[in-house]
Amino acid sequence: MSKLLSIIIPVYNEEESLPHLTPRLDALIALLEGNVAVEVWLIDDHSTDKTAFLLRAICDENPAYHFIRLAANSGSHIAILAGLQQCHGDCAVILAADLQDPPELIPEMLEQWRENNHVVWAVRSQREGLSRTEIFMANLFYRLLNTFSEVKLPPTGADYSLIDRVVINALLQSVTANPSLALDVARLGFNQVEMPYVKAERKYGVSKWNLRKKLTAFADAFVSISFMPLRLMSYLGMTVSAIGFAYAILIVIFRLTGIVQVDGWAALMIVVLVFGGIQMIMLGVIGEYLWRTLEQSRKRPMYFIEASSEDGDSHAQKAPSSQETLPE
Ligand code: UDP
Ligand code: MG
Repeated sequence: MSKLLSIIIPVYNEEESLPHLTPRLDALIALLEGNVAVEVWLIDDHSTDKTAFLLRAICDENPAYHFIRLAANSGSHIAILAGLQQCHGDCAVILAADLQDPPELIPEMLEQWRENNHVVWAVRSQREGLSRTEIFMANLFYRLLNTFSEVKLPPTGADYSLIDRVVINALLQSVTANPSLALDVARLGFNQVEMPYVKAERKYGVSKWNLRKKLTAFADAFVSISFMPLRLMSYLGMTVSAIGFAYAILIVIFRLTGIVQVDGWAALMIVVLVFGGIQMIMLGVIGEYLWRTLEQSRKRPMYFIEASSEDGDSHAQKAPSSQETLPE
């Protein structure tokens, strides 16, 4: 029996990319024929353009292609998890729809997989079409994560990878409500290798990651791996209170000895402002952890499937079995 490779592709408003994507995948499937069988899972992250229509046409035409459409835009991490839950492969490659990560790299990744590696990271050695600030921000993101956690990611980032079935199963069992996939995979262990490649410029459509999404992803990643902010907060709190306490004693001494030279207004304002600010920051940090705990304890399904290539009519409402809850 030949092995099955699942290619998982999150798709959000990619009507411009899709016509370029499928020929490249078709060529890859033909190349791998007799070697590994391929199934492609396209996860429509509730696109608002012609994507849904195109996906249905693609899947109708070629039985190797499948799609599911999520009921709400949930972000590529959740879309990918939805795909991993649907796929049947002995291994899966996670690929973006915009062809910034060349599918032609997959045979080489499969080689690495055959050599008993469970996770093959395609690591961008170079990125085309990004401004210096963007590269700086991306590198800062990964450097901060690596500094503050025991989990190590490739320092230039990782969003293209192949994972073995054991890793897929482990991942699906261990993800939390605000997933940060690369970290969740890196944390699992198993045999992980890196493979350099050049990340191309986006040729079709525009990046779907705005600043807000990027900041959210960073907060998710950071909170997911590191208790450092909470700990720093306690240290800061202790230091500031110690200084405050010492100052209070001084004031009492000054008062008792009659050397009261405190310029009341200024001192008071400084204390109020500085301490107010620090308390706000601390509450914010606690809040970040707290609301994630709340999200997690709610145990709400991460996504719902609105339609899929398996159900014929795209407007057909599926029975409640279409609710997908990730195992805990
Ligand atoms: N994507 C998604 N949901 C979103 C945003 C993006 O499924 O809310 C998909 C997108 O269609 C693409 C992949 O995630 O296939 C990577 O997104 P993008 O290329 O916009 O990110 P960038 O390459 O700029 O990091
Ligand atoms: Mg991209």
